[in-house]
Amino acid sequence: MKVTCPHCQVNLDVKKIPVTIPQGIHIQRQCTSCQAWFRLKPLQNKLKIVGIVLLLMTSLCNFMVTDSNTYLLLSATGFVGILMALIITFYGQQEKIPAPPKS
Ligand SMILES: [Zn+2]
Repeated sequence: MKVTCPHCQVNLDVKKIPVTIPQGIHIQRQCTSCQAWFRLKPLQNKLKIVGIVLLLMTSLCNFMVTDSNTYLLLSATGFVGILMALIITFYGQQEKIPAPPKS
């Protein structure tokens, strides 16, 4: 997966970024090109997590549902959730953040 550094606009392979710091639900990354820090925009990060949780919840509920209409509704909702998460994963925008304090 590629992300674009908001500082120097260089495309980076996420797997090749050696320095990442998890902070709550956010993951802060350091650009390998300009050494500046960035992360996924907070709203998009939250939507991504909501999408994944939506898929998990609807999948779990589908085990207990016997009504086919409810089953379809839950499946569709889960699909929308994971679609949202995937779109943000691939097309989400990064934002600049200050360097985290050294510990
Ligand atoms: Zn950069």
